[in-house]
Amino acid sequence: MRDPLSKAERSALMARVRATGNRSTEGICEDTLILAGIKGWVKHPSEILGRPDFYFAGRKVAVFVDGCFWHGCPICQRRIPTRRRKFWVTKISRNRERDSRVGRKLRAKGYKTVRIWEHELRTRSWLSRLSLALQRKRPMRSKLAKKADEKCR
Ligand SMILES: [Zn+2]
Repeated sequence: MRDPLSKAERSALMARVRATGNRSTEGICEDTLILAGIKGWVKHPSEILGRPDFYFAGRKVAVFVDGCFWHGCPICQRRIPTRRRKFWVTKISRNRERDSRVGRKLRAKGYKTVRIWEHELRTRSWLSRLSLALQRKRPMRSKLAKKADEKCR
């Protein structure tokens, strides 16, 4: 897939990311959106359930940037500290439950949700996913639903 950023923009972005060191995942995401020229978003709108990190009102797309540790990323599987292990396990599983509950409710109300893992920010794959979500006016209908429609005819 094509990189929406030019070579110069990409290296400028990477330099900024490096320079800021422990910059928040949200900050990195924001920089990328700006450099990629993706507009029309606000941060943490209080009127939208779950207060997404970025929200595109025109397209009803809610974007959440999840820290791999805090949201229990299945790919990274960060080690849970042995001290107060129970506390961490409970905390992370509560976060995961909330994430899926919020996602379900938003989608039921016609919003599209895009979840970006912290580890995904190392590449640009999430930008393509986001662009796709912003292009589609409506969520794609499942093949199953289409088949059911055909049968009814
Ligand atoms: Zn991860």
